[in-house]
Amino acid sequence: MVHSIAAAREGAQNSAYLDDTYLEQVDTRVIALGETDGTPWAAVEHCLFHPQGGGQPADRGWLEDAEIVPVRDRESGLVVATAAEDGSLPSLAVGERVRARIDLPTRMRHAALHTAGHLVEAVGRAQGWEMVGSIHFPGQARIEFQAPPAGARLADPDGREEVTVALRAAVAAAVADDLPVSARYLPDGRRVVRLDALHSAPCGGTHVRSLGDLADVVLPTLKVKKGRIRVSYTATHRSC
Ligand SMILES: [Zn+2]
Repeated sequence: MVHSIAAAREGAQNSAYLDDTYLEQVDTRVIALGETDGTPWAAVEHCLFHPQGGGQPADRGWLEDAEIVPVRDRESGLVVATAAEDGSLPSLAVGERVRARIDLPTRMRHAALHTAGHLVEAVGRAQGWEMVGSIHFPGQARIEFQAPPAGARLADPDGREEVTVALRAAVAAAVADDLPVSARYLPDGRRVVRLDALHSAPCGGTHVRSLGDLADVVLPTLKVKKGRIRVSYTATHRSC
């Protein structure tokens, strides 16, 4: 990997996207400029941009008027902005003030799908299942669980439908109860997200404020494939 970096204060970046899912724009400053494998990038102090990771897609964002794609730079650990396809980064200097902005409707859609994923995980775990995989991308969101060895109920189409009906009911009840969603940091620095008392998990994603923010949560009948229970789902953010 070819890597060069010019940094004023490395480690001075804060992940603003973790503090406020709904913060759309911030005036901040450039803390580092670099290049990785020939791709130039810029890092800003107040980072609004969620990079792809943890099963959640990257935000759509801008530095000034230039559309950017945020990625986690492995060398520096910073979330850096690279030019979007066919675009280029604005000309910037370390220390320069710059306006950072995200596409808020896209962020809210991703946060809703991601938070709904936690909820699906929670209701699956309540069935005694162990989660083995998750993806929160639009159009392919699903949580996968290890199928229990004596899962006779799940071998039968009526049984799968019956279990799905129970999952749907548990999801609908949690949304109707508008359970609060919160995040806190453990002493070791890990961030843990909670859906009230229903669920907690280490997570670096973006979440809605409470489950009442979720709309159109739909769970098609679950599938069992190669020893895994696959619960697909869709969800949107209620209009604000
Ligand atoms: Zn999360």
